[in-house]
Amino acid sequence: MNIHKMGSNKRIALIAHDNKKAELIEWAIYNKTALSRHRLFATGTTGKMLEKALDQTITKYMSGPLGGDQQIGARIAERKIDVLIFFWDPMEAQPHDPDIKALLRLGVVWNIPFACDRSTADFLLTSPLMHQDYDVIQPDYSVYLKRPPR
Ligand code: PGA
Repeated sequence: MNIHKMGSNKRIALIAHDNKKAELIEWAIYNKTALSRHRLFATGTTGKMLEKALDQTITKYMSGPLGGDQQIGARIAERKIDVLIFFWDPMEAQPHDPDIKALLRLGVVWNIPFACDRSTADFLLTSPLMHQDYDVIQPDYSVYLKRPPR
């Protein structure tokens, strides 16, 4: 079985679409102390707002529509992001909808914990596993990798 070791200090990526930014910022301020125990990453605009609200350094990628979601997806594939909090907007199409789908797909491909709404984010952040080492079982893609060329 393939295991990826997640440390007790998690690398958390945060993203919110424009109509969800206020909700994410409010959630983050409410959870400021818990979040300060982890390393935070975000897409450009979300990151700037969070940095101001939390007074905590955030590693900022590009703005989502310019490639930020893809950058975070790549970090997930590289096992450099442990947890994703992504408040995406279910009521409005986004110019980068394909990137969003790709990001959510990679979260499942690599079996990372991720929350797409506030309740799930509450459950996730208050999990005792957030403060412990955790062995992430990596899905077995060996069959896929050994498939004959098409
Ligand atoms: P933003 O990107 O934080 O730069 O607004 C978020 C997104 O739309 O994916």
